Amino acid sequence: MLEIISTESPKFDFSTIFSKQQKTSLRWRSSTLEERSARLIKLRNWIKENQDQIRQALWEDFKKPASEVDLSEIFPVTSEINHTLKNLKSWMKPQGISTPLSMIGTSGKIYFEPKGTALIISPWNFPFNLTVGPLVSAIAAGCPAMIKPSEFSPSTSTLIEKMVKAVFPPEEVSVFLGEVEVSQELLKLPFDHIFFTGSPAVGKIVMKAAAEHLTSITLELGGKSPAIIDESADLNDAAGKLIWGKFVNCGQTCIAPDYILVHESQKDRLIMELKGFLQKFYDSGFKGIEKSPDYARIIGPRHFNRLSGYLEDAVSKGATLEFGGKTEKSTCYFEPTLLSNIAKEMDVFQEEIFGPILPILTFSKIDDVIALINSKPKPLALYYFGSDTRNSKKVIEETSSGNVVINDCIIHFLHNNLPFGGVNNSGMGKAHGHAGFLAFSHEKGVLKQRVGINNVTLLRPPYGIKAKKIIQSLIKWF
Ligand code: NAD
Repeated sequence: MLEIISTESPKFDFSTIFSKQQKTSLRWRSSTLEERSARLIKLRNWIKENQDQIRQALWEDFKKPASEVDLSEIFPVTSEINHTLKNLKSWMKPQGISTPLSMIGTSGKIYFEPKGTALIISPWNFPFNLTVGPLVSAIAAGCPAMIKPSEFSPSTSTLIEKMVKAVFPPEEVSVFLGEVEVSQELLKLPFDHIFFTGSPAVGKIVMKAAAEHLTSITLELGGKSPAIIDESADLNDAAGKLIWGKFVNCGQTCIAPDYILVHESQKDRLIMELKGFLQKFYDSGFKGIEKSPDYARIIGPRHFNRLSGYLEDAVSKGATLEFGGKTEKSTCYFEPTLLSNIAKEMDVFQEEIFGPILPILTFSKIDDVIALINSKPKPLALYYFGSDTRNSKKVIEETSSGNVVINDCIIHFLHNNLPFGGVNNSGMGKAHGHAGFLAFSHEKGVLKQRVGINNVTLLRPPYGIKAKKIIQSLIKWF
């Protein structure tokens, strides 16, 4: 945990920095491609030169393996910057639009205006990626930003502060470390946009605070993302993908498969395959998964206790422990755990798990799966494994979720051209690539009319027969 500092302390000079950033935002309103690109290149250079520090910080926070840091913290951000640098010119360019017949003589364009001063609040689970990723979009769109990283990942949050100080003056980007009170104080300011990543519960608090100033928001939230394993699935292929997608980052991933819905005819074989991959990925020498250098830890005691509670609750209500279950509080070690015989009243079925517990439920008809998913809040991600295109089409078309992936899981996060985000309880607004740029941009419609007589001047009062005829024909034909 970070030291608790009063928000009255001079360190938290929110409003002075905010008003400086407001001035910056006016200057940046007309910032050029070259200026924005230079900022992004400077940020990328710092990241590339300080990769060891990033790996070290994440190791200190929750023993995140270096390869997972490279793949899920550094690469998504450098890739986001490279993709942005490649496309920013076309994203910034005012977009011409076609002219409807009724508007003949005019010309219209959409300008992508920076929204202004932004607030970025981020979580602890991918603390570098989920803080710097939105910052890339803010900088690309021309918005200065105030950042509040999570208090649960203190080493990474402190490193982000160090990075920001090295790359930007505070009137452009500044970081505020501390507990929830810091977020609460920041949320009182009249930002032009808030980009929040975290839980649906805190998302509601952010949305209420934003409403005070009618600030626009992007909410990247969580929830329960199901993985459907249909009768037609290649179980070996699916199991390998599911085990990696679920247990990377020790299961603390917003888009990790939260629970499995497997066709009843495939349950036993799927469980066998899942166990095989757990052994292969984390304990091929049978020395115990706790010895694996490739398996991270739970972020801290609060989440460790929450997950232990879920496990106890499930087992006490009759769930079968198929694999794992071993835990060690002092080191926040939580073994990858598979559970079957899940009842709907268990916590693991009701709450977002956000940890290394994977409940396995069965189904007999795809329609039942669709009904079950539609009876719950809309998931952030939905995964379908199988080769039955009729069923996969049904799942895509008859359910609602932030994203869908067929025959894989979590990899859509890395696709720069796919808008990433949730829907309702799992979020609103989109992130990544062009969608991220648009999140921080106001799409301003600009219309240019000719001087003198035009078809609209014919419609002015007094409304004679001619004007009335033209208006009637507008209704009839356009
Ligand atoms: P959280 O909502 O507890 O905290 C997120 C941030 O909000 C932190 O910086 C925290 O300091 C701040 N915060 C917490 N309580 C607050 C309050 N009362 N007022 C103002 N600010 C407050 O989330 P978390 O535990 O850090 O992260 C886990 C959640 O985030 C999960 O639900 C997960 O699914 C979700 N998540 C979503 C995405 C996504 O991209 N959609 C990515 C990662 C995590």
